[in-house]
Amino acid sequence: MGNLTIANALIIPMTADRRSFNGYVRTRDGAITAIASGAPPQNVEAQETIDASGCALMPGLINAHTHLYQVLLRALWEDLELMPWLKRIYGCARVLTPEHFYHGSLLGCIETIRSGVTTVCEHNFLNPGPECASETIRALQDSGLRAVFARTVMDSGEIVPDCTKEKPEQAFQRIDAILAKHKNNPRLSFMTGPNTPPINTTADLLKEVRRFADDKSIGISAHVAESKSVVEAVRKEHGAHGVVEFLHRFGIPAKNSIFAHSVHVSEEEIQILRDTGTSVSHNPVSNMMLGDGVAPVVEMLRQGVNVGLGTDGAASNHSQDLFDTMKAASLLQKVHHHEAGVIQPYDVLRMATIGGARALGLDAVCGTIEVGKRADLILVNLDTVHIQPVNDIFSQIVHCAKASDVQTVIVDGEIVMRDRRLTKLDDDKILADAKIANRDLIERVSRLSF
Ligand SMILES: [Zn+2]
Repeated sequence: MGNLTIANALIIPMTADRRSFNGYVRTRDGAITAIASGAPPQNVEAQETIDASGCALMPGLINAHTHLYQVLLRALWEDLELMPWLKRIYGCARVLTPEHFYHGSLLGCIETIRSGVTTVCEHNFLNPGPECASETIRALQDSGLRAVFARTVMDSGEIVPDCTKEKPEQAFQRIDAILAKHKNNPRLSFMTGPNTPPINTTADLLKEVRRFADDKSIGISAHVAESKSVVEAVRKEHGAHGVVEFLHRFGIPAKNSIFAHSVHVSEEEIQILRDTGTSVSHNPVSNMMLGDGVAPVVEMLRQGVNVGLGTDGAASNHSQDLFDTMKAASLLQKVHHHEAGVIQPYDVLRMATIGGARALGLDAVCGTIEVGKRADLILVNLDTVHIQPVNDIFSQIVHCAKASDVQTVIVDGEIVMRDRRLTKLDDDKILADAKIANRDLIERVSRLSF
């Protein structure tokens, strides 16, 4: 890994002081060792110096919630609301193979890197066999991304195929095996969780998941209150006012928990999120695509709830582009509140960086550019016709910049994309393999009835 100096950049550290300045960053053995304005001193030797003139140097973006293999299912089931759409997604478990997970996830990883994301949370929920999880992890490892693999569990539900329902003890054994195998990988950490309570999880599972997570010192990831239909289910089946209130009975909301979506949550439930330190992954493009509604992001931020940003899977997005998601997050709140100033670009950028890092328990590792943190960094080319001239760098990263402006991506001090060329992966081969996997999957899916 060695030493790296990135000079002549417009640095956006994303620390609490809300600043940007021209300067340089140094890294050694994957860690940030210096960040300062001006030119780097000549007396320090660097194995490599990147001239970042015309670029913004930022923390790598953090995709706090996705399902990578779903790139194979882009735009397959349009115009469906959450429940009928989920029935099809879950139904895929009957035909998904480990090869689909590997080749789909790897394509998802390329799109992720190419859009400036350095950390991704893969929320895994279809496990007809243990290889489905292990092949996804293999793709993540091959990509060089920093990743949180959230291996969740489903034990019930009318629309869940039997092949992917697990008894808690069986699921925990499988998760234990994953934890043991990967405990020494510095770029990989783990979570567990119920998938989408209450529609595919029993109360017993919720109790067991909290116990297991505490036992293993890992966090919890769950889809929470995504649509009105999920809230109706929790009211009817459990007499709770909402999903967060229901989960609170089992100690699921906590500092190490991340709740994806959280669209239909009451004011009281926002208080529960705040009081327990629970984080939210806001996934605006997916919410719009499925017609779920608008998450109360402004209210959550005002109350002090930590919010990250996620794309969600490409089956409901249909991309893995977090620049798209940032712009959507900003504009959706403005139109929802009929108030242009209701959310600031800097707040959106915080969600996409340090907010996501905190949500995934990685805020001591990444999410800002600070000495001592790991070097998860991106260079964004500002010298483009759709960005120049720069009047407000924060607004223009959120509202003008595109994924294709990301020039260079560094994870843990390793350059994984240099001047738009991937250093570890072969785009053409991955694309060809993913097309084959897609054709095979579509052929198998066409024989299913939903
Ligand atoms: Zn999801």
